[in-house]
Amino acid sequence: MQNIADNLGKIHLQIRAAEANAHRAAGSVTLLAVSKTQPASALREAYAAGQTAFGENYLQEALEKIESLSDLKILWHFIGPLQSNKTRKVAENFAWVHSVDRLKLAERLSEQRPGHLPPLQICLQVNISQEQGKSGCAPESVIELARAIQPLPNITLRGLMAIPQATDNPQEQQQAFHALAELLKSLQNEFPEMDTLSMGMSGDMEMAIAEGATIVRIGTAIFGARQPR
Ligand SMILES: *Cc1c(COP(=O)(O)O)cnc(C)c1O
Repeated sequence: MQNIADNLGKIHLQIRAAEANAHRAAGSVTLLAVSKTQPASALREAYAAGQTAFGENYLQEALEKIESLSDLKILWHFIGPLQSNKTRKVAENFAWVHSVDRLKLAERLSEQRPGHLPPLQICLQVNISQEQGKSGCAPESVIELARAIQPLPNITLRGLMAIPQATDNPQEQQQAFHALAELLKSLQNEFPEMDTLSMGMSGDMEMAIAEGATIVRIGTAIFGARQPR
């Protein structure tokens, strides 16, 4: 039972150390606990240890946990692939969406966001390693997409998200994070309010923080290995 709390404690120390190494302010990186495939009881345990932001990939599974944990003040982030026919439930139940990669998704989320909720916070997912058949918009279409999405009501475009291609080569890894950070910088010339870089997972968190991540998405290092779905 102590495990999840211990793991969270260790990760917070690692984040602090990585912030310091990169000469970044303490607290400039937010930890998103990625809880896909984990039972609601594991999230409850993490919450009891102070974790309030959780990331889910699969809508049906997420909705069940949102329902069974509705007594907690959790900030839910949707981070998985999103089909346009599933946007309504996402607009109604989440605070953030990291995986917007086309205008139509943003338009639907904006239309479907209930008026009594604050604007949905979104990131544009970028296919930063330009992998065939992977989610994410092309790096060269980011600026045009941002211009189209930024004026939509009921959603706030906060920045960029990426899942770089898996590689054993640290230099390639770093280049991918660096490229996403550079893209955000170029966006900020036109949209200085955009402040979010969602990048870095259990295996590469430190490097992502060194390159400017503001949200790291950590699953395995908190909850242990995932059960197959
Ligand atoms: C599963 C997942 C993570 C977490 O990965 P770990 O290696 O378990 O930390 C982060 N981001 C996304 C989009 C994921 O699907």
